[in-house]
Amino acid sequence: MTSEGIKHQPSCADPVDLKALDVEDARARILDQIIPVDGYEKLAIRSALRRVLDETIISPVNVPSHRNSAMDGFAIRGDEIPAENEQAEFTCVGTAWAGHPFVGEIAAGECIQIMTGAPLPDTLDTVIMQEQAEYDGKVVRIGGKHRAGQNVRQAGEDLAKGGVVFEPGRRLTAADLGVIASLGIGEVVVRRKPVVAFFSTGDELRSIGEPLGEGEIYDSNRYTLYGMLTNLGVDILDMGVVEDNPDAMRAAFHSAAANADVVITSGGVSVGEADYIKPVLEELGEITFWKIKMKPGRPLTFGKLGDATFMGLPGNPVAVMVTFYQFVLPALQYMMSGQRPEPMLLQAVAKTAIRKRPGRTEFARGRYSIDDSGLLHVEVTGQQGSGILTSMSYGNCFIVLPPEQGSVEPGDVVTVQPFNSMI
Ligand code: AMP
Ligand code: MG
Repeated sequence: MTSEGIKHQPSCADPVDLKALDVEDARARILDQIIPVDGYEKLAIRSALRRVLDETIISPVNVPSHRNSAMDGFAIRGDEIPAENEQAEFTCVGTAWAGHPFVGEIAAGECIQIMTGAPLPDTLDTVIMQEQAEYDGKVVRIGGKHRAGQNVRQAGEDLAKGGVVFEPGRRLTAADLGVIASLGIGEVVVRRKPVVAFFSTGDELRSIGEPLGEGEIYDSNRYTLYGMLTNLGVDILDMGVVEDNPDAMRAAFHSAAANADVVITSGGVSVGEADYIKPVLEELGEITFWKIKMKPGRPLTFGKLGDATFMGLPGNPVAVMVTFYQFVLPALQYMMSGQRPEPMLLQAVAKTAIRKRPGRTEFARGRYSIDDSGLLHVEVTGQQGSGILTSMSYGNCFIVLPPEQGSVEPGDVVTVQPFNSMI
């Protein structure tokens, strides 16, 4: 038998297509076309957790607001500290508690007992830890080695009144909520969340609760997309499974584009299938079909549907998650914040061999761990087919193997990209 006459069809198993785009190139082209959302809302700080700040937070006060003690102990004047190897005695004339300052005069040779967080009287500037003093209820004796000004927190040492605390574009963390609360600020202005619509395509797909016919499968992509989009914190519009016919597609694309900032689909864009998806998309928007030098996730569709950004992901469940993480996630992060995200890449020693051909970026699913000496190690999570979704569940990172890289041997250093609780 000869191969003559057999027309070569492109497939995922193809040798590398030199005209295809590199991962970085595709990501840069996508980011170049994303416009950050405008629109904002004012929220109580609790509701602003993980939202993107859209104002500059300037401190209206000093934090802490007053000089206070960092320790439980005794407050004295720094110039009354005894020399090293000598002792000094002070008469204790009262106590300052957090929330209850000491009121009264303190003469030379006198001290007060002071608790952590209690304001320091104006004439005192130094705190001796309780453990470094002897106290009989009236007289405090100290010796040892002390430094004037020790164990005192200065007013404004955390945040000075009038200083810039946070800039716009910051995604607020738990610590940030606490900092904002410490300023006495109860509400902040945050950017509007983008609305992301998504649906699955494929006649073989059934929703949960429906019986499976011959050759049919449950739609899982809508659930992984739901999870990743929810973790990111966008508003979502789950449009279900859309039938593989042009009218249903057209209606779904119209409705998604009218109601969302971003439209994501999965499936139906690989070569040779459901041919009308391509013409429908081309008819409704400016869409480009890309081949990307990566595995899994080679086909990707990107463009505009009206004002909405469209991203058509492949159908294979792992490819959906990989292309989401590599392209959709940075695009949405940029859209949400106006800040270009930096991918978090670490170096780890491979515990297992990984087979790979040079020419494209491969995203193997891995599990990294830290050994006794603090070194990062990584192993692949079993089978790596692009339909094997458990490889994502059991993994905690991608092992990013760049185009020039060939097979990996145990002991080789590889790059890993932790999922960072997004997946
Ligand atoms: P496609 O890109 O439409 O050719 O799909 C590639 C593979 O992914 C096929 O095996 C599909 O059955 C599968 N697939 C497509 N969409 C989904 C989905 N929403 N959930 C699970 N598997 C899917
Ligand atoms: Mg399909």
